[in-house]
Amino acid sequence: RLLQLDREHLIHPVVNFRAHEKKGVTVLKSGKGAWLTDIDGNRLLDAFSGLWCVNIGYGQTSVVEAATRQMSELPYATGYFSFGSEVAIQLAAKLIELTPRSLEHVYFSLGGSDAIDAAIRYITYYFNAIGQPQRKHFIALERGYHGSSSNGSGLTGLPAFHDNFDVPRVNQHHIPCPYPYRSPVSDDPQAIIDQSVSSLHEKVNELGKDQVAAFFCEPIMGSGGVIVPPKGWLKAMQNACNDLGILFLVDEVITGFGRTGPLFACDAEGVEPDLMTVAKGLTSGYSPMGALFMSDEIYSGIADGPNASAVVGHGQTYSAHPVSAAVALEVLRLYIEGGLLANGQAVAPIFAQRLEALSAHPLVGECRVRGMLAGVELVANKETKARFDMALNLPERLGRIAYDNQIVFRAFADSILGFAPALCFEESEFEFLFDRLTLSLDSLL
Ligand code: PLP
Repeated sequence: RLLQLDREHLIHPVVNFRAHEKKGVTVLKSGKGAWLTDIDGNRLLDAFSGLWCVNIGYGQTSVVEAATRQMSELPYATGYFSFGSEVAIQLAAKLIELTPRSLEHVYFSLGGSDAIDAAIRYITYYFNAIGQPQRKHFIALERGYHGSSSNGSGLTGLPAFHDNFDVPRVNQHHIPCPYPYRSPVSDDPQAIIDQSVSSLHEKVNELGKDQVAAFFCEPIMGSGGVIVPPKGWLKAMQNACNDLGILFLVDEVITGFGRTGPLFACDAEGVEPDLMTVAKGLTSGYSPMGALFMSDEIYSGIADGPNASAVVGHGQTYSAHPVSAAVALEVLRLYIEGGLLANGQAVAPIFAQRLEALSAHPLVGECRVRGMLAGVELVANKETKARFDMALNLPERLGRIAYDNQIVFRAFADSILGFAPALCFEESEFEFLFDRLTLSLDSLL
């Protein structure tokens, strides 16, 4: 009955509608730690943290208590008309303490897509305000993902998110993504970095140096297939943006909050972007919230420009929602004082060792990992790196096999498997995951 109702009424994100109706859904009922239970009572080890967001694991009661307290005391406070809430202000101050030093102001959104959308709007406003209104062009990476809002989906470098939606992409451009395993230039890390830097220079020169507003990128391309650029790449892109005089936005929606080891991926390379977006791990998925951080230069440019007396017309009813802010504050406490960030760093080498061992599997072309984020690229031929024929529908088949083996990960269209275990993962859970994963892959041989 539930599955029937789902088929008839619920539109699921990012599915083929008719295929999805036939396939149905696994209806989840409860979660504890890294484990989920579905309505039929089956237990599943979630190695993807929901949608790479439940970094603290399920069932953390202190977060539930923080949300309940806030809901009883003040369930809603607008940020409009000079109102605010204690928790939202505390959260803003705490985050500014923790994020890269270049970032001094924060706008709270409901998730990642609208944080990206807010970035595009504020950047446009900023350049209009400082007398450079011709800077209209935005550049991002092929295979990058920046959400599915009407504006931001144009920057997403995955065609399914803008094809057929008529997203107006006249000012949105892409350069190739650094993809060491399939690099057309060389597998030398420095050559891959140099290639990205020169692609950005070429694109900016083609569009006109004074016509480009910003470059957006993820530190690791998540939804594009967990593609990990060489170390030093992010810093090189920041330097290139500085040299070119364009703004640099780092999208840490997946990589933020301990996913790659440090609190932010920017921290690993001393990167100080002009803007940064986060979501997911900010509340660990317990409540919806995202954030856009910006430098004081951008904030002041907007504040003090020729429109200084105008209202900056960007906002949402639920921006800085107090319940989500209370959740985020408690989630931050669990990462830092509660030791979850440290636990993620402590178990990451076990994850890396297991992945290294999996590389020998006949179907595995490459395992790539940083911290608690990994991609396993399956290939039909290890020598030639040939991809599987799409007609084999491997992701779909693997999804079913994984369910039968009681594990959850994400299978992308081009046979790349994504893993993002919660930071509370234990050694025995890695053992379970990799034993079952190997069984799943063996069944495809
Ligand atoms: N940016 C990145 C890097 C993401 O991975 C995502 C979502 O996966 C988004 C933006 C969009 O976030 P949301 O789904 O919360 O709108």
